[in-house]
Amino acid sequence: MGIRVYELAKELGFSSKGLVQKLNELHVSVKGHMSSLDEDTAELVRHELAGEAKKAAPVKAPKTAKPPEKIVEMKVVTGKLPLSVKDISVKLQLSANDLIKKLMNLGIMASINYSLDEEMVNKISSLLGFRFEKELSDEEVLLVKHRREDAKNLMPRPPVVTLMGHVDHGKTSLLDVIRSSNITQKESGGITQHIGAYEVALPKGRITFFDTPGHEAFTAMRARGANITDIVIIVVAADDGIMPQTVEAINHAKAANVPIVVAINKIDLPGANIDNVRRQLAEIDLNCEEWGGKTITVPVSAKKGTGVERLLEMLVLEAELLELRANPTALARGAIIESKISKGSGPTATILVQNGTLRIGDVFVCGVTFGKVRSMVNDLGQRLNAAGPSVPVEISGLAQVPQVGDVLYVVEDERKAKELSGQKNEALRKAKLIPAQRVSLEQLFLQAQEGQLKELNLIIKADVHGSLEALISSLKELGTKDIAVKIIHAQVGSINESDVMLAIASDAVILGFHVTIDAQAKDTAEKKNVDVRMYRIIYEAINDVRLSMEGLLAPTIRETFIGRAKVLQPFKVSNVGTIAGSVVVKGKFVRTAEKVRLFRAEQCLFEGKLASLKRHKDDVKEVSEGMECGIGLDKFMSIEPDDIIECYHIEKIARKL
Ligand code: GDP
Repeated sequence: MGIRVYELAKELGFSSKGLVQKLNELHVSVKGHMSSLDEDTAELVRHELAGEAKKAAPVKAPKTAKPPEKIVEMKVVTGKLPLSVKDISVKLQLSANDLIKKLMNLGIMASINYSLDEEMVNKISSLLGFRFEKELSDEEVLLVKHRREDAKNLMPRPPVVTLMGHVDHGKTSLLDVIRSSNITQKESGGITQHIGAYEVALPKGRITFFDTPGHEAFTAMRARGANITDIVIIVVAADDGIMPQTVEAINHAKAANVPIVVAINKIDLPGANIDNVRRQLAEIDLNCEEWGGKTITVPVSAKKGTGVERLLEMLVLEAELLELRANPTALARGAIIESKISKGSGPTATILVQNGTLRIGDVFVCGVTFGKVRSMVNDLGQRLNAAGPSVPVEISGLAQVPQVGDVLYVVEDERKAKELSGQKNEALRKAKLIPAQRVSLEQLFLQAQEGQLKELNLIIKADVHGSLEALISSLKELGTKDIAVKIIHAQVGSINESDVMLAIASDAVILGFHVTIDAQAKDTAEKKNVDVRMYRIIYEAINDVRLSMEGLLAPTIRETFIGRAKVLQPFKVSNVGTIAGSVVVKGKFVRTAEKVRLFRAEQCLFEGKLASLKRHKDDVKEVSEGMECGIGLDKFMSIEPDDIIECYHIEKIARKL
């Protein structure tokens, strides 16, 4: 018979909607809060959400609590994601043009062939009185099965640790001494090799360390959806104290909700001041145990080896508190932490096994590629036949080089692996047509109203401390009962790549005050659609956030027509795709145009960016009326003679009072 979702939600202290969302994250398919879950799945969910439920659950509902949510039955539409505008319009019984208009009202600019992701499909369906239910892809069905296995035969697993901190504070040196304390290494006398992570065996247990220290790598993995670090060690040099990158690293760890252990390094130096570091830590809410707080701080010297043993003991202790468990008997699943083409063995990758045991001969899917484990080598260069939870191993036998952060999971046979990877490639092709949706100040109110957002995460960069402090305190006050303002990172300095990565990983908006944005950061922000806002007056920044929380900050987008070209003859260029040999029939064509559209028989088939603009073989900035040129469109190849291409300037005008 099982248990209804809303009953389980009550039991676990979640809202029904919240639990449905969590279930989706766990790849458990439910139709809504009235759906039933079988006992096995309910048990799995209880297990998975045990920690969160305790945190989330008010023990007793206050008397003034809202009445139980009303269960409104809506018409149900189903489909496999992503869905194109055309497909969903049919399901929602609306013309594609009307749907495009409705999407525009939601701030989503989409042409008929655009694919919509789950969030967008949910939004538009509910707006039209439907409830969308996602049909699980074959891969998702498989991952649910994997997840079910995860909850069985639970055994303790070693923690996975990343070191972060300011440059030159001793991360690499500390990793080196830790590695040399490894009993296994001493026994094997083996030649260690860099595979991206290594295991240290201690008398009290094992620990896996990432040997690519730094918060950039950590957050980049997180931005790709791979949360693999259990504990972060923040390294602070005792002579230097907390530096800007230390703060950055701490905020990145906090944003990921990962426990922090602080290693106060270089205590052998005459200028070392341990208490000063502890004082500085307290200023940023990391109160050390010695002074009655909760943060473990361990004075060490990577140079002399002092304190390292204690640091490792503390990690083992912290790991015990976390009760890290996995099922070594399941089929393996893990994350790719490094990948390359190596001479002789072709594509190789280091996988950190997160559940199950990976074995030679196992067939797997990995990102959009697949393979069969041909060889496995650990960080000591030893060949292994099997690798269990938290063990990093370099494997060969991949069809292609996977991406860092990709999930690898074992399937029953090669046919299945090929089929799934084919499906993923197809889904990826479609997904490329999805304009990335992230939280933006303009969209905040809508998302908050739909209950998708309870917190506005902000990253603030300013030119001087005074402005930073003023911004932080004023912005924090803007929080309401429905939506809290959370500043996940605030610092003096320009907006850099790592800020943008953090924004992606934590779904945050970046506010810059009297600062610039690095070229690379700007590029990533644009590609990933991160909302970066620049201000020169504090009041305006605060006001924009306030207006957005009240739903008053409508985006003002001004579109200016620049020119129109007619396609004479499309032609293929190897490695580039289709280029439209065209003539400019009105205005001019400009390389920097923010938007282009392609029309065929008055229907818009493509909306996006220019990929190239050439005359003969040369890239050009502009082509005037009457001239011929070659136009490349970003990821759109099916161009035909007589198609019309138009380019536009897009200006986003910030709303002012
Ligand atoms: P990273 O940039 O954080 O990886 O720092 P490194 O490990 O490269 O160390 C930077 C410098 O500090 C190197 O010259 C190290 O030799 C030195 N160093 C690291 N740990 C210690 C220590 O405990 N004591 C002293 N005196 N020097 C250290």
